[in-house]
Amino acid sequence: AVRVRFCPSPTGNLHVGNVRTALFNWAFARHHGGTFVFRVEDTDAARDSEESYQGLLDALRWLGLDWDEGPEVGGDLGPYRQSERMPLYAEVAKKLIDAGYAYYAYDTPEELEERRETARAEGRSSGYDGLHRDLTDEQRAAYEAEGRKPVVRFRMPDEAIVFEDLVRGEVTFEPEHVSDYVILRANGQPLYTLTNPVDDATMGITHVLRGEDLLSSTPRQIPLHRALVELGIGEGVVPEYGHLPFVMGPGNRKLSKRDPGGGLADYRDRGFLPEGLLNYLALLGWSIGGDREIFSLQEMAEAFDIGRVNPNPAQFDPKKCEAVNAQHIRDLPVEDLATRLLPYLADAGLVGSEPSEAELALLAAATPLVNERITVLSEAVEMLAFLFVSEDGFAVDPDDGAKTLTDDGLTVVRAARDALAGLDPFDTASIEAALRAALVDGLGLKPRNAFGPVRVAVSGRRISPPLFESIELLGKERTLSRLDSALA
Ligand code: GLU
Repeated sequence: AVRVRFCPSPTGNLHVGNVRTALFNWAFARHHGGTFVFRVEDTDAARDSEESYQGLLDALRWLGLDWDEGPEVGGDLGPYRQSERMPLYAEVAKKLIDAGYAYYAYDTPEELEERRETARAEGRSSGYDGLHRDLTDEQRAAYEAEGRKPVVRFRMPDEAIVFEDLVRGEVTFEPEHVSDYVILRANGQPLYTLTNPVDDATMGITHVLRGEDLLSSTPRQIPLHRALVELGIGEGVVPEYGHLPFVMGPGNRKLSKRDPGGGLADYRDRGFLPEGLLNYLALLGWSIGGDREIFSLQEMAEAFDIGRVNPNPAQFDPKKCEAVNAQHIRDLPVEDLATRLLPYLADAGLVGSEPSEAELALLAAATPLVNERITVLSEAVEMLAFLFVSEDGFAVDPDDGAKTLTDDGLTVVRAARDALAGLDPFDTASIEAALRAALVDGLGLKPRNAFGPVRVAVSGRRISPPLFESIELLGKERTLSRLDSALA
């Protein structure tokens, strides 16, 4: 059975590239009816924090990428935080050493650096030269007597490592490019090089799908996996590997989490829908077929095929990301959209954190006015603010006011006031008819000149949701009061 994992380190804001990795793993698991394991690689006490750990869980929950084993949900092969698995790594390291797969190396950093420089000068590979591979007991004892503390290195086989990458096809690493690498620091701390494959092995991971930046780890991890299988550690599988293409940001550099648009938090704050963001991220290296670009997570899971991932770097296009999100917003049932807008309106203080019936009713009526005009949820806040603020809190944007509420504009506003004052019923159709009659026919104005000043007077801005609907939602009393303020 397919078992995949997503295993970020809790070091702050999740990078969108990592989110794409999570998504592809999730889709692969769901497509194959497999298991999606969520593991947290928190062995670096200096960089990891509890806050980032909670942030990771929160981010995955928000995205809707549900995991089958991991923090909070548990599972038979846990714990799923590496910080809780330290005894395992020490035990495995010891077994690797005892069986000769790994060894103590006593080189000092200065010695290593000196030899590296010589190697470079002579045009040789500057990886570890294997000097301490086969120390005798006497040599070891002598180094120990000097007070040196050894690191532990994994002994790489002297042969090319060849594997069939699920995305890139056959990949070969020659032995001179992969030297014996450190798995335990001199203080006994295990490194990613050990913890990651040990966990993949003990958690029975069958497929490792991860970013291309980790491609060079794979020739190190495969022999370690083989050693673990030999030693009967883990579930007896050497995983298959697939490396997902780089995500390129502006200037054709790799997108970093510091780039605007690089970190997940921005998307949440601006009000991307998780399904919109994930749909866009799915397009970075994969396609559902044809020229179809809009699809649901479920549809992605059904269609997902790792063999169809394109190995070439994918360009991150923020405009396209917004356009895809806007389409998901348009496709949402309005009641659903209204619910999703609520927290943004509440954050802006436009509705209470426990919204009243009246606020909810107003929002339900206002949502259809904006659902085709916003690309992210937060944009609705500005557009709808005029409906939710109290009359005391209402102010016309000074710039828009100066442009439209001129002497001519105020003449229009006065005529509009007269036309609306006695209007009954006060609904969209009557409002439109009354304003057209008074302003377009009565004053002989072009519609743009007729409605611009009215729009600014009632909504505060030159760009607003549709005017007549907005006036209906605002109601007669508030509309007249705003027209009066403009005239005062
Ligand atoms: N913790 C590693 C990272 O976040 C996991 C890499 C892997 O998938 O092997 O980069």
